[in-house]
Amino acid sequence: MEEEMLQFHEMGIDDRLLKAIADLGWAQPTLIQEKAIPLALEGKDILARARTGSGKTAAYAVPVIQHILASKQSVREQDVRAVILVPTKELGQQVHAMLDQLTRYCARDVRVVDISGKADISAQRPILMEKPDVVVGTPSRVLIHLTAQNLALQSLEVLVVDEADLLFSFGFEADVKNLLCHLPKIYQSFLMSATLSTEVQSLKEMILHNPVILKLEGSQLPASCQLQQYSIQCEEEDKFLLVYTLLKLRLVRGKTLLFVDSIERCYRLKLFLEQVGVPACVLNSELPIHSRCHIISQFNQGFYDYIIASDEHTLSAPKTPLPAGGSKTEKGGKKQPKIKGTKDKEYGVSRGVDFQNVSNVINFDFPKSVDSYIHRVGRTARANNQGTALSFISATEMPTHDDVKKSLGECVPPPPPPFKRTFTMLDAMRSVTKQGVKEARLREIKQELLNSEKLKTYFEDNPRDLQLLRHDKDLYPAVVKPHMKNIPDYLGETYSMHVHPLSSVGRKPEPNKNIF
Ligand code: AMP
Repeated sequence: MEEEMLQFHEMGIDDRLLKAIADLGWAQPTLIQEKAIPLALEGKDILARARTGSGKTAAYAVPVIQHILASKQSVREQDVRAVILVPTKELGQQVHAMLDQLTRYCARDVRVVDISGKADISAQRPILMEKPDVVVGTPSRVLIHLTAQNLALQSLEVLVVDEADLLFSFGFEADVKNLLCHLPKIYQSFLMSATLSTEVQSLKEMILHNPVILKLEGSQLPASCQLQQYSIQCEEEDKFLLVYTLLKLRLVRGKTLLFVDSIERCYRLKLFLEQVGVPACVLNSELPIHSRCHIISQFNQGFYDYIIASDEHTLSAPKTPLPAGGSKTEKGGKKQPKIKGTKDKEYGVSRGVDFQNVSNVINFDFPKSVDSYIHRVGRTARANNQGTALSFISATEMPTHDDVKKSLGECVPPPPPPFKRTFTMLDAMRSVTKQGVKEARLREIKQELLNSEKLKTYFEDNPRDLQLLRHDKDLYPAVVKPHMKNIPDYLGETYSMHVHPLSSVGRKPEPNKNIF
């Protein structure tokens, strides 16, 4: 007999929290929430292997808030009671936003501060001196404040380490270890991680006491009825042709993330799409944090259909000389051109960040490891939504594709016969020169720095005007050839005969079917 699912109101959660959950429209807990919340409320330490998009943030946020509300009934003194460690500023902001939503009806009792995103350490000092109940931050930032005695954690009751495996790949291991010296002997801990790597196991020994280990999902990706995965074998030029066709003919519908394997490729693809009249934003670690968060927030609000990104490993130079990506399974790392600028170590796109209602993920360049594939594709089909993943695979990327296939079993169908070129986009491709890409990168950094710094104060006072700021404007308008923006008739006919529209909105595609 199937077990009845435990509902939020049966978990002994405070009414104010239940009200906030109802406002979020969550009819029932996700699997991780159903299992983790009651155990956490019993006071257990938890190690959870949680798939991206599984609802893991609320799985620890609800018990943290509940714990503080309960504590406040007996202890009067104001103190920092919970610390949530995150690997990236984007995730910090997102966790903060989730806590804000959940504490909507008890914001006076549970004050939350995110110190991961703001650059100015001295400006954060007075905020921390007020001893907020919950501090969200990257390990390095929390450690800086502990060392500067801006923050004291002697009354800490709960420690959360979110995306623990990513913390390690971002090189935060030493910071986490140093930080642990500032904590009291007894506190409750939650460790959330997409994989249970050896590093995560060692962290488990350090911070968890008799933990309950939750490995809930057999697969790290949703089932094929929720997430459809397709792959197409094609070489460099055909990738551009294909993306042009899919976007221009709207064969891919809905919000789409396009992943490439370097910042330089981000701009190459953006400029190419500019040539053919498809606006897209680039999200990259060179841009100021305010711009990055603004892009994500506008994307979530539906301002843009397309974001071009590369995953965090290629952006945050790994400490060890592994191929770009840092995983043992990675292959064929391409050399990246150097542009003097500050890449942000605490940047993360393919993991952690909650892009909402993403209908499609396109791997324009195939990811360099199985993990990276899972994290990129995990940006779609989140919570209970449908999603589609489409991978372009060149001959050199095929071995990694085979690794993914081996690891994920039937999830990824075998590649179809090589894609046949019917129309070359050489004209548009040739217009995207190396110099053009370099200039576009610099121009965007300049533009965004201006937006981010000079206009920050203005926009704080006039938040509505911020909505007018778009990040998908043309970066190389002088060379756009107007004729490239039109779709040739023959192309429309050819492709509409062969390609099924890809969209997870309002359709029920047959699972595991290649589009050609
Ligand atoms: P997370 O894995 O925490 O990043 O959450 C992924 C997405 O699922 C977020 O957009 C959450 O708002 C959403 N979510 C979390 N819990 C639930 C729930 N119980 N029902 C529906 N959506 C949820």
